[in-house]
Amino acid sequence: MRIACPFCGARDSGEFTYLGDASPKRPDAPIDGGVAVEDQFYDYVYLRDNVAGLTREYWYHGGGCRSWLIAERSTTTHEFKSVTAAPGAGAAKAKQAGER
Ligand SMILES: [Zn+2]
Repeated sequence: MRIACPFCGARDSGEFTYLGDASPKRPDAPIDGGVAVEDQFYDYVYLRDNVAGLTREYWYHGGGCRSWLIAERSTTTHEFKSVTAAPGAGAAKAKQAGER
């Protein structure tokens, strides 16, 4: 299986490491905290859906450009629909490549 890194092109999947679900959003933490905030953080840290279909996942290209990536992958066919740089992770490499 090959994964299309936005910086390196299509590379063998053995160069990449799966780092988890990219869909959970970190809850805002008010200054005074509270039980509701603790429940939201518990859900954010520990609870994941077991989706049969398209998911957003973090991947790390350790065997290449060492970038964090976000991939949309089908859990039923293992097909990668898209691979993009994770927010903030690819900004430095894009500047090095002359992109803006
Ligand atoms: Zn790469």
